[in-house]
Parts: sequence; C-alpha cells; structure tokens
Amino acid sequence: MQMFRRTYAEVNIDHLEFNLQQIRQHYSTEVFLCPMVKANAYGHGDAPFALNLERLGVKYLGVCLIEEGLLLRNSGVRCEILVFRGFDAAGAKTILQHKLTPVVSSWEQLDYLDVASEKAISLHLKFDTGMNRLGFSSHDAEKILEKINSKKKWQVKSILTHLVQGEDGVDVNGRTVQQTRELQKICQVFSKHKIFMHALNSAGIISQIEVRKKKQTDHPLYHLQSGLRPGLMIYGYNPLGAGVGLELKPVMSLKSQASVFRQIKAGETVSYNGTWKAKKDSIIAVVPIGYADGYHRLLSNQNQALFAEEKVPVVGNVCMDYLMLDVTEVVKKKKLSLDQEHSVVLFGFQGEAFLSAEEVAKNCKSITWEMLTSVGERVPRVYVGKSVEQSKEVGADL
Ligand SMILES: *Cc1c(COP(=O)(O)O)cnc(C)c1O
Repeated sequence: MQMFRRTYAEVNIDHLEFNLQQIRQHYSTEVFLCPMVKANAYGHGDAPFALNLERLGVKYLGVCLIEEGLLLRNSGVRCEILVFRGFDAAGAKTILQHKLTPVVSSWEQLDYLDVASEKAISLHLKFDTGMNRLGFSSHDAEKILEKINSKKKWQVKSILTHLVQGEDGVDVNGRTVQQTRELQKICQVFSKHKIFMHALNSAGIISQIEVRKKKQTDHPLYHLQSGLRPGLMIYGYNPLGAGVGLELKPVMSLKSQASVFRQIKAGETVSYNGTWKAKKDSIIAVVPIGYADGYHRLLSNQNQALFAEEKVPVVGNVCMDYLMLDVTEVVKKKKLSLDQEHSVVLFGFQGEAFLSAEEVAKNCKSITWEMLTSVGERVPRVYVGKSVEQSKEVGADL
C-alpha cells in the first residue's frame, strides 16, 4: 500500500520475540502458552501479528470473538485458536467447522456443542472465581462433571478462570491467590480427566516470576502449575511496573511526520475553541494524526510527543485528523530547519528517546490496554525486524 499520509504504527517483531523469550525463560517448554491476540492483536494487526507469533513457535492463540478466529484461519494461521467469548447455536457450528477451539462458560453452550457435532470435541471449561463476568459457578463443578461423563465424545482439556487483579499476585492474601486456590479445588473434581489449569494473564505471570525470583517458597504462586495467557506483556508493557519480574520491550511505536509549521505571535491561540494561547512567539508543528486514529481528545493540552528525540507538549484541542505540538524550544536548541519534514512519535521509540504508551494512557485517565487497542483502522501497521512476516496489504512503502 502506498502511504500518502505518513502516519503509521511501527510494530517491531524483534521486540515481540524478545518478550516471548523473556516469558519462556521462566517456564518449561511443556507449559500451555497462549498469547492473546484479540482486538486486532491489541492494535498490532491481527493476522500478520498472529503469523509472526506462529513463526516464533507459538502453538496456541487466544481471541475473543468467533469473527476474530475466522479472520486468523482465513489468513492461514494454523495454530490452535481458543475463542474465549462464548457462542450461540450457530456459533458452535462455525467454531467446529473452522477448527477453532471453544472455551465453554455456560450450560447452554454445552448443549449447542452437543447438537453441533457427533465427533469428539475437546472442551476448555471456564469458571467464574470472582470476576462475575463469564463462566460456570464453582459450585456446579460436580454437576458439570456428571454431564461431561454422560457424553463419550466430550473430552475436558482444561479448566480456566480469569483474574480480577493479577497485579496483587505477589500478595499472599491477595485475590489472585484466592482465585487460583479456588480453581485448584475445581481441578480436583475433574482429576479423572487429563486436565491442566490456566489462570495467569500478564499480571499473574509477572507476579509468579517475581515470587519465584525472590525464592518465596512458601508463597502459593511459587509452586502453582498454571497455563499462561499473556496479553499486554507480549506487547511489551508490564502491568506491575517497568522492571518488576522481567524486562520487556514495547512493540509498537505510533509515528507520524510534521511537514507544516506555523510561526505564531504571543497571544494567538491554536486549534478549535482556542484552548491554548501562546505566551510568547511560538513555532507550532501540525501533525497528521487525530482522535479518528485513536489519539484521544482528552489528551488535548495534557500530553507530550517526541520530536527530534525530545518531549514536546501537545497544544490546543486534538482534532479528528490533526494535532499540534509546541516545538519552539527544540527547534531553537537544535537549530532545526522547518523546510523539511520531521518525524514525530506519539508513543514508542524515536532514536534514543522513548515515550511510554502507559504514560500517554495515564494522561487521558486510561490504561495501556485501551491506548494500544484504540489505534485506528486507518493507521497502517508496518512490521519491522530481522525476519518479518509482512502483511501483503500493508507492505511498507515508506
Ligand atoms: C485479554 C485476556 C488475557 C490477557 O490479559 P492481559 O492483562 O493483557 O495479560 C488473558 N485471559 C483472558 C481470558 C483474556 O480475555
């Protein structure tokens, strides 16, 4: 695709590989490792990203929607794909037809699967241990076992749950420890089946690594054998705070180019409604990215971007297609020419400089997950790295 507007999300596959290796280092190769690639791979571009994960040796991938699973299958992804959101009767048929793996979280879904196929089906059963969102009640474990045992074709593969606040995993009295204990009890009910359990998301995984690093052998997470469902961490952000447990490298850099500069006088305002007024004569860079690209309007006058490897403030209201930066100081300090384009990074890396998507998220009262998944559809994803599986549609033409 030819890029007329040079605004794009650069996705660094070497960083993805680094993050995966960081996780793998701490676990045996046998452990169930299912990176979550729902929501357009957290904004990193569904199929090309999934194909890169597959190339890096991943055997399982997790999505939310059946639609997401189909998209990956139709793009040639061969891994086992777990569909977490649940399904209706038609969904059950589609899941099985396309060799997707159902995560079952209700009695109805068991019946839909029963009707959908006479063949053997592997089941992953989701239990609600405190999230109060999806999943069977733990009190129903025995009844479910009875139902499963009544059908020869059903084979339970795993028992899973989702953590309320994996960040507290390091705390012996935290909810994570409570929830994993509850799940272990449910697993005992299914002990005659060859099952494993999975509960750990990024925060849970990092908590476990931290507990093991500190050799807290009396901590329940130290010994916990659980499958892994990392999301945010494979994209390079650490929900427990940078440096806790392990090092990660952010995968996405959101980039643009400023080609238009305005020299304005003290007292003039910038953008809609004039919410920013220049205190002195200023140089304003116009950057072709806006809230329609996922750069939240709440960041107006509240955030920074990288320009010539320095942090500069976003000034005035963020527009649908543009935002403006006050680059006065940097232009003077570095004696930059305004007759040429200058690269802008909204978050991620620019040379030696780095601006965290986590910090940007905080500036609009959001979280890193939302910041990444918000990056809009019209922003091309460009994959870089040593050995990259490029998407055909967004083959970079920079
Ligand atoms: C999204 C998701 C994850 C990953 O969560 P992170 O906090 O991004 O690591 C794990 N499990 C389930 C069921 C999810 O939906």
